Amino acid sequence: MAKRVIVVGAGMVGLATAWHLQERGFEVQVLERREVAAGASWGNAGWLSPGLAIPLNEPSLVRSGILSMARPNSPLYVPPKLDRELWRFLAEFASKCTMRAWSRSMEAIVGLSEISLAAFDELSGSVGVPTYEAPIVAGFRKEAEAAGLIHEFDLIRKSGVKLETRELGPSARSEYPLLSGAVGFAVAIERQRYIEPAAYVNALAKAVVDRGGDLVISGTVFSVDRRKGQIELDAAHGTGYRADAAVLATGAWLNPLARQVGVREPVRAGRGYSMTYKTEEPPKSPVYFPAERIACTPTGSRLRVAGTMEFRRPDDPLDRRRVDSIVRSAESLLATVDWSTQEDVWVGPRPVSADGRALIGRTAMEGVYVAGGHGMWGVTLGPITGKLLAGVIDTGEVPAVLAPFNPLR
Ligand SMILES: Cc1cc2nc3c(=O)[nH]c(=O)nc-3n(C[C@H](O)[C@H](O)[C@H](O)COP(=O)(O)OP(=O)(O)OC[C@H]3O[C@@H](n4cnc5c(N)ncnc54)[C@H](O)[C@@H]3O)c2cc1C
Repeated sequence: MAKRVIVVGAGMVGLATAWHLQERGFEVQVLERREVAAGASWGNAGWLSPGLAIPLNEPSLVRSGILSMARPNSPLYVPPKLDRELWRFLAEFASKCTMRAWSRSMEAIVGLSEISLAAFDELSGSVGVPTYEAPIVAGFRKEAEAAGLIHEFDLIRKSGVKLETRELGPSARSEYPLLSGAVGFAVAIERQRYIEPAAYVNALAKAVVDRGGDLVISGTVFSVDRRKGQIELDAAHGTGYRADAAVLATGAWLNPLARQVGVREPVRAGRGYSMTYKTEEPPKSPVYFPAERIACTPTGSRLRVAGTMEFRRPDDPLDRRRVDSIVRSAESLLATVDWSTQEDVWVGPRPVSADGRALIGRTAMEGVYVAGGHGMWGVTLGPITGKLLAGVIDTGEVPAVLAPFNPLR
């Protein structure tokens, strides 16, 4: 009989892991507290961008972030109300915003990102929702503002990522009518991809179920334990679940369960917001405004506008001021958008680790694994994470590329 594995969390990472476990002959049950893609996997920007997948702990983030952190309209926001654990996390995060720590995390991420798109191709026949190839166009008010991103490109290339970029100069607007006249300089990062994340993750969930997986909604898991060689999970409504192994893939909610199995590396919610708008013509590629930290992605005939990083509890209510602040920053940079057609207003928690690296692998409890903490890049890196972790669970061997992501580091 096939071994049984329970995956906790029906986001991109958990579902990709479930799918790959099925590929290897495991019987899979997915327990989700709310609904498929109830966390960060719903309204994110959907970029599959190995060319931009860099760790969050950039040294410049501390300089720019700390100065503006308590302003509700700043791209990086921490409410001034004291939350000791959060401030401890931010202090640890800031201490890891060094060039040395960043390079280490970058080297680790490159190992995954360079094989990340192939992992999407592997899912394509079963998922049936497309990935779209397109450049990501980075826009700036002035050429001088692009210096930071161009420096980042150098670092990314030095890390071994093949990155094809093209400066657009004054032709930018004719090629990309979404850009307004306020955009004086642009760079296209070629051959990236994007998805409509909610549609993709729901199709992935359907694929898991169609292949015989059991998806339990309202299956909030509170505790994890090992008894008599089996993993036991206590969940909502007094229900208990048992399996040979379990994967904790609960995104920004990872800490409470992961701590029970010896994982000390903290993961906090770096919440982002998004909303969609009608545009005059259907947008044809994603647009990025690095100075404002705003990411825009075509979603059907509409445009999703996403941004900000807000360190708050993952389930705190949506803060309308953050939405308004994104709109204020984006309005002058985008043409052809009808700002009166706002829909799909959303907030979701990026699972951010203190050192910019995800947590993927075994825990201190035999048979329990963790997959999460991918921060800004859990969509791009979800399928490859699932594929590699399923291999670890099946064979017991940890490939070198996963070593830096050891959850017990
Ligand atoms: C604004 C924004 C833009 C982004 N843009 C991009 C992008 O362009 N490209 C990219 O690669 N990444 C992007 N990201 C990051 C990406 O969205 C996340 O890294 C990724 O979705 C994390 O996936 P996950 O499966 O780990 O977590 P989640 O999607 O959060 O899934 C975790 C799931 O676990 C469930 N859960 C939690 N606790 C329990 C429990 N106790 N029991 C049962 N279930 C539980 C939750 O309900 C949730 O459904 C963006 C994020 C944001 C916020």
